[in-house]
Amino acid sequence: MKDSFDRTIDYVRIAVTDRCNLRCFYCMPAEGIPYEPKQHLLSYEEITRVLRVLGGLGFRKVRFTGGEPFLRKDFMQLLENTAGLPDYDSIHITSNGTLLQKHIPRLKQLGITKINLSIDSLDPERFHKITRRNDFDKVMRTFALLVENGFKIKLNAVIMHGINTQDIIPLAELAKTHPVDVRFIEEMPFNGGYKENLKLYRAKDIHTDLKAQYPGLEMLPSEHGDTADLIKVPGYQGNIGVIAAFSRTFCHTCNRLRISSKGEIKTCLYDGGVFNIRDYMRSGVTDKELAKKFQELVKLKPKDGFAAEQSRTNTTTPLESMSVIGG
Ligand code: SAM
Ligand code: SF4
Repeated sequence: MKDSFDRTIDYVRIAVTDRCNLRCFYCMPAEGIPYEPKQHLLSYEEITRVLRVLGGLGFRKVRFTGGEPFLRKDFMQLLENTAGLPDYDSIHITSNGTLLQKHIPRLKQLGITKINLSIDSLDPERFHKITRRNDFDKVMRTFALLVENGFKIKLNAVIMHGINTQDIIPLAELAKTHPVDVRFIEEMPFNGGYKENLKLYRAKDIHTDLKAQYPGLEMLPSEHGDTADLIKVPGYQGNIGVIAAFSRTFCHTCNRLRISSKGEIKTCLYDGGVFNIRDYMRSGVTDKELAKKFQELVKLKPKDGFAAEQSRTNTTTPLESMSVIGG
């Protein structure tokens, strides 16, 4: 499906829950956010229906995120349903890694091996300061087990000025010692009430740090839908990516549609939500009507994140928590 700017939209990201067991300060206030009642969340049947319809419209990639997706009851059941859909080339998950260890064998059986794991620091104290929880050892054990089991891991780290810039090189070094890709992400303002200013550390500064450490690095060509500037350090097993999520330099390659846990469609991370697909489905529409609605919604996709931000009717800060959007 093409949007109004001739971009092919074939990737859907679904937040399966707004709940989380960590409290990363760039994502949520310490006291958490008001959670939606469970009946407001898209049911697994509704999610599977959406995926089936989007598959018919040419969607080929799906990512489940949250909140913490493994916190939702029977999340593996949703993965099993999705693995049975014929249209998707790949099923991806973004997780904080605290709850997935016991699911590794089943994930492997289902062929779901593409996992983004969020680890913002390799220092236990900084990890605790950022996530406000004590799960560093558990997450690192999960990381090791996933690598051992041949999963294709991307490690996500939000880099913030004065917080964890000293982790950039140690995290990048994981791509040398392990077959994993590492992604450095600019902080965005979606923190649901964390009042201080962003601790923005720009993508260009991350590039400067990497260039200083790795003078021989090479920039890799980007592929369809890439949001990261991709870097190869000669001899390293994985690549390194820098995602200008706040600077928004990649919007021309965007191929995504986002669905929040309560069914709000976001045609861009920065818009305020353009339509509620849960209410539409619950009004009794047919699959044909649902498909037509998705076609209309894709055409609403703005040129870039700046245009999307301007279109928001709710401009009051704080903005919603990323655990509602899914990242
Ligand atoms: N709980 C899972 C996790 O942390 O991986 C999945 C949901 S989380 C919202 C998805 C991604 O969004 C994580 O990699 C997280 O670091 C990132 N994220 C959350 N809040 C962010 C913010 N304010 N700016 C940039 N990235 C953010
Ligand atoms: Fe939870 Fe992920 Fe948000 Fe951290 S970034 S609080 S792990 S949803």
